Amino acid sequence: MQADVVVVGKGNAALCAALAARDTGASVIMLEAAPVDESGGNSRFAGGVMRFAYDSVHDLEKVAEIPAEEIDSVDWESNTQDQFYDDLYNVTGFRTDPSLSELLITQSLDAMIWLRGQGARFLPNYRHQSAVVNGKRKFFGRMPMIMHGGGPGLVQSLTDTAEKKGVRIFYETRAAALVYEGDRVQGVRARSKGKTVEFRAKSVVLACGGFEANPEWRTRYLGPGWELAKVRGSRFNMGDGLKMALDIGACPYGNWSGRHAVSWERYAPEFGDLSLPESSYRHSYPMSLMINTEGKRFVDEGAEFYNYTYAKYGAEVLKQPGQAAWQVFDAKVKPLLRPEYGDKAVTRVTASTLEELAAKMEGLANPTAFLKTVKEFNAAVRTDVPFNHSVKDGRSTVGIEPPKSNWAHPLDTPPYEAYAITCGITFTFGGLRTVPETGQVVDVNMLPIEGLYTAGEMLGGLFYFNYAAGTGLVSGTVFGRIAGRGAGAAA
Ligand SMILES: Cc1cc2nc3c(=O)[nH]c(=O)nc-3n(C[C@H](O)[C@H](O)[C@H](O)COP(=O)(O)OP(=O)(O)OC[C@H]3O[C@@H](n4cnc5c(N)ncnc54)[C@H](O)[C@@H]3O)c2cc1C
Repeated sequence: MQADVVVVGKGNAALCAALAARDTGASVIMLEAAPVDESGGNSRFAGGVMRFAYDSVHDLEKVAEIPAEEIDSVDWESNTQDQFYDDLYNVTGFRTDPSLSELLITQSLDAMIWLRGQGARFLPNYRHQSAVVNGKRKFFGRMPMIMHGGGPGLVQSLTDTAEKKGVRIFYETRAAALVYEGDRVQGVRARSKGKTVEFRAKSVVLACGGFEANPEWRTRYLGPGWELAKVRGSRFNMGDGLKMALDIGACPYGNWSGRHAVSWERYAPEFGDLSLPESSYRHSYPMSLMINTEGKRFVDEGAEFYNYTYAKYGAEVLKQPGQAAWQVFDAKVKPLLRPEYGDKAVTRVTASTLEELAAKMEGLANPTAFLKTVKEFNAAVRTDVPFNHSVKDGRSTVGIEPPKSNWAHPLDTPPYEAYAITCGITFTFGGLRTVPETGQVVDVNMLPIEGLYTAGEMLGGLFYFNYAAGTGLVSGTVFGRIAGRGAGAAA
């Protein structure tokens, strides 16, 4: 098997790389470990929200058709390049690589326009990222756009375009090693439907995800206990691409003990389930009290919009006894919960008193402590500050630890509801070091490895500690396009 460029993986980053390489005139083969019906990686599990820089609704019109009456009647917010820098630098503790983050931010809008040109469709994300305030619909969280059909829609449209453009896709073909001869990467050795096959190429793009689905690597790099996390997405991302690259001397880079992990349905399956796309999400916790099995709170639920805390709070849940906790709500905030809280595959208990609720919360070892936590919390709420869930309203608690900084409501209006959660891991942050402008992987001496490129979750150096929602897919597009162009030009 031979092509100018072999792309390993078939998620968003790989598809963008394949399309960009194809547009340079290179012939392209893609290798996908999964069978067709499970293909597409974490990108296929994604909700499809996209964080990119835009100054006003007029930039949004470059990616989507927005009806004329909505242009003025909606407050579209902005995500200027400066705001995007602030968010990325804040969530990563100022550790994000300056060159990578600059490319991500400055190319993000252009990459979305390119994505649209490749057949992907964008829609306003009215469902999750907006609210009606004083009669006007207003976006919050700086990511008003979502892919039509979510992650599955994005993967399907890019797959259709790739096939139309003559990219050959091999399913059930798991890359195992790089062919590294004469000081350059010349292809990939893979197991394809039980047989070993060599795919020869002038350049290889590795875009085959992190190691989030591999419990042994999670324990090794993220630490003890991480083997117990549920996997939110694909079961195929086992760290193969990272291993293949490290085996030939590629330079590791970034936050290898870091990961994106969230509050997740406690009894969710081991891996993501494409037939229940959002059932296990528990992103409405800023309206809740998060309570562990000892009856205590353990995070500031209202520190920020969920977009800026959800990816780090999964680790806090994992640290709790039994890797479990509860999100507790009262009737006042019930209308603000995301729709999936009403799904069938949800572990929920309901009661008309807090005592009754405590008795129903499975594993709650100390109901008395829970009741005391709620009493102290209720007394600490600054009820003099008006509640407004569409802004950081500053309605906080006073004198308790941890505080709740926004959206604090006394838990006092029945019926009460508690949702059982655990930690769901999304993806890992550790990756490879590249020449940012070309996506070429560098070796441990910081010299470019001829013929080797990477993008997506495998790219190290962008995310540290935490993450701003909607950045993963945009990173995959920006750096997938860069790596595909680099690989195509070198072929
Ligand atoms: C539930 C969930 C919701 C999310 N929601 C969003 C969102 O709304 N917005 C956002 O920006 N991000 C979201 N993300 C994160 C986003 O999905 C990822 O950041 C992004 O998809 C990563 O893209 P990728 O192409 O690098 O990896 P993936 O999409 O995971 O693709 C990796 C590919 O490599 C293949 N593969 C693995 N090993 C091999 C091998 N050895 N040989 C061949 N193929 C291999 C896999 O099968 C897969 O096709 C979400 C993730 C999850 C799990």
